[in-house]
Amino acid sequence: MSERDLLMIPGPINFDPGVLREMGAPTAGHTSPEFIARFGESLEWVKQVFLAPTGTPFVIAGSGTLAMDIAASNLIEPGDRALVVSTGYFSDRMAAILERYGAAVTVLRAEAGDVVVFDRVEAELARVQPKVLTMTHVDTSTGVAVDARALAQAGRRHNALVVVDGVCSVAGMELQQDAWGIDIALTASQKAIGVPPGLALLVASPRALEAFRARSKPVANYYADWTNWLPIMEAYLARKTAYFGTPPVNLVYALHESLRQILAEGMAARVARHKRLSDAFKAGVRAIGLKQVPVRAEVAATTMSALYYPDGIDAKWLAKVRERGVVLAGGLHPAIRDKYFRVGHMGVVSHADIAATLSAIEGALLASGHEFDEGAGLAALEKALA
Ligand code: PMP
Repeated sequence: MSERDLLMIPGPINFDPGVLREMGAPTAGHTSPEFIARFGESLEWVKQVFLAPTGTPFVIAGSGTLAMDIAASNLIEPGDRALVVSTGYFSDRMAAILERYGAAVTVLRAEAGDVVVFDRVEAELARVQPKVLTMTHVDTSTGVAVDARALAQAGRRHNALVVVDGVCSVAGMELQQDAWGIDIALTASQKAIGVPPGLALLVASPRALEAFRARSKPVANYYADWTNWLPIMEAYLARKTAYFGTPPVNLVYALHESLRQILAEGMAARVARHKRLSDAFKAGVRAIGLKQVPVRAEVAATTMSALYYPDGIDAKWLAKVRERGVVLAGGLHPAIRDKYFRVGHMGVVSHADIAATLSAIEGALLASGHEFDEGAGLAALEKALA
């Protein structure tokens, strides 16, 4: 990777230079006043980004899968029922994690590129009466976004604890944890939060903590157990220190800087910027004949795009885009893995980034002998942003 290359995969993303500089700052002790101040403030800012004023934030060293593990292991006791609304690879991973902790899991699976029909979810909620309902806000394997608000409200109506995997949505797409009735929303640092990989972020509602406190058996995962982490997060929020596992000091510095930038932009403006750039990028690829994996515009994420290769082109073609300085990702959903590719456009992404990405795609298509209306993509992109 040269410093001039564009990493346009759906995470890790391109990071802001100011955020990256924090990774090389002198590492303070985790009990130093300087670290306590920055970690405490970061935890408060996480609540603001999740729009969860009543929530309890957790920021723990690990990837997004740890955040999923924390949600499942702290809420589930063996025999509890869970309903998973699956829109792809990452929803299925959540089902596997829930099962690992002894849940009786029902999976409602959508076709690749589509969502589960809402009435089916309602009917299963009524039939299964699950303790936990999970959904993937944006399944990164398909670029499909679910209606997290409607699903969360349905879950609440049926008394389920609602868990939203927001790894590919938080800080990019609209997510209002408190207002929508979400009990655990979770993400990872390397996506729209804009920090190098290594942090699991999660916010728990008062109901989620109540359910955790009402457990009859200890949490089966030692590292994930809120019994260990709750006193730590509460201490830093009160600008005190406590120890369970050494916090990743420089990642927290980077998080502090990125959250500062995110809140300075403002959540509504940030969501609007992601939508505007996504709409323009999607208009551009449509103009050169590329078809999206999401079956309808309303179910397409605005943090990424999943696009079918045109006829006669396969994953080897991504190397031609790479030669043009832009890194894209291949397919991931098992049903269509070899037929599509993925583009991330989240975080500090700009007009220039999506234009350069589209230009590299057009150039690589031309170099592969694919016929299309040359230049039409950039024209459509510019028109959409005008
Ligand atoms: N959920 C979603 C929606 C994701 O996109 C990812 C990662 N791409 C994960 C969970 C897992 O995160 P990680 O790779 O950081 O463990």
